[in-house]
Amino acid sequence: MLRLPRFRMEIPATAPEAAAMLRALGAHEEDPATLGTPRLHVMAVAGGTDVYPNMKRRQFTPETLVSLRRALSAEIGVNGEARIGGGATLAAVAEHPGLRARYRALAMAAELVSTPQLRNMGTIGGNLCLDTRCNWYDESLFWRTAEGYCMKTHPSVVCRVATSSPRCLAVASADTVPALIALGAQARVVSEDGERLVPVADLYRDDGMRYLAIRGDEIVTAVLLPKADGWRSTYLKLRDRGSFDFPIVGLAAAVKWDGGRVADARVALTAVASRPILVEAAGAALAGTALEEDAVAAAAEACFKAARPMDNTSGTIAQRKRTVSVFAGRALRELRQGDPS
Ligand SMILES: Cc1cc2nc3c(=O)[nH]c(=O)nc-3n(C[C@H](O)[C@H](O)[C@H](O)COP(=O)(O)OP(=O)(O)OC[C@H]3O[C@@H](n4cnc5c(N)ncnc54)[C@H](O)[C@@H]3O)c2cc1C
Repeated sequence: MLRLPRFRMEIPATAPEAAAMLRALGAHEEDPATLGTPRLHVMAVAGGTDVYPNMKRRQFTPETLVSLRRALSAEIGVNGEARIGGGATLAAVAEHPGLRARYRALAMAAELVSTPQLRNMGTIGGNLCLDTRCNWYDESLFWRTAEGYCMKTHPSVVCRVATSSPRCLAVASADTVPALIALGAQARVVSEDGERLVPVADLYRDDGMRYLAIRGDEIVTAVLLPKADGWRSTYLKLRDRGSFDFPIVGLAAAVKWDGGRVADARVALTAVASRPILVEAAGAALAGTALEEDAVAAAAEACFKAARPMDNTSGTIAQRKRTVSVFAGRALRELRQGDPS
C-alpha cells in the first residue's frame, strides 16, 4: 500500500485568506522545476483526487497543504451567463440542468472524468489546475528511482520522452478545459494582489513542468461562461477503458448559429500536447459556412495539424493524431442545425 508522506494541513475560511496563506508560505516563489524536491513547501488542495495520489507516489511532497474546501464556493448559477464556484464538484457540473441545456460540452466533459466517487470529490478548480501527466512521471517512487527519474521531478535529468527536448513534454489531460475554452470561459483568479479574470485559453503554458500561467499563490475562485444564445457544443473523448480513464484525446467543439450560417466557432483539444490547444484555424474554416462537408474537412485537417501527441500516454502517436481529425468531423456533424442530438 502506498502511504501519504507527513504534511501539515491549513484550512482557511475564505479565498483571500487562503491566498494570503499560500503567499506567506512561499507558494508564489515555488519554481515548478523543483517539484518533488524538498524545496516545494506548500500547495493548494481542493478535492485532492490528484494531489493525494501524486503525494503517495512522491511526485511532490509539500510540507503544508492549504485546503480550499471551506474557502471556495460550490454554487452554480445559470441566468443568461453562468457562474460556477471553483469548489463545485464535477458531479454537480455534470448534473446541473442549466449547464446540460446550455453548455452541453462542459457537462459532457465533466461527466466523462474518471469515476462517480472521484467526480463527487474532484472540483472544477482542481480540474483547471490539474498537473500534467506522463508515463515517465505518473509512476511509483520505486519505479521512478529504478529508472533514474525524469526532467519533471529532477530538472538535471533529460526528458525521457524525447531526450533532446529542452523542456518537459508531459501532457495536459484535463477533460473540462477544452470544453471551457470552446465555450469562451474565463477564470476568476484571486491572490493577495486582488482579483483578475483570465480567459481559460490563457491559463496554460506549453511546458509540462511549468504548465500553469498563474502563480502558486493564485486561486481559481470561479469559472464564468458567457451567454450561450445560439451556441451548440459537444465533447468527445478517447480513453483506454470506457468505464474510467484520463483522455488520450479530448476534443470540444462549439458553434454559434445565426440564420443558418455559422457566426462563430471554436474547436479545442486536450491530451495531445503539454497545453490545451485552441485550434484557431478550425474556427476560421467554419465561420460563415453551414458546416458543409468541405468546411468540416478543412476544420478536421486544421485540428490534425495542431495536435502534437508524443509517445508518453496510452495509444500511439498516429492513432491519436488520426482520432483528432475523426473526432472533429463527428463533433461538427453533430452540431449541424436540425440534428436531433
Ligand atoms: C483514477 C483517476 C482517474 C482520473 N481520471 C480523470 C479524467 O478522466 N479526466 C480528468 O480531467 N481528470 C481525471 N482525474 C484527475 C482528477 O480527479 C480531476 O482532474 C479532478 O477534477 C481534480 O480536482 P480536485 O479538486 O480533486 O483537484 P486537487 O487534486 O485538489 O488539485 C489538483 C491541482 O489543482 C490545484 N488546485 C486545486 N484547486 C485549485 C483552485 N481552486 N485554484 C488553484 N489551484 C487549484 C492543486 O494545487 C493541484 O495542483 C483522475 C484521477 C484519478 C485518481
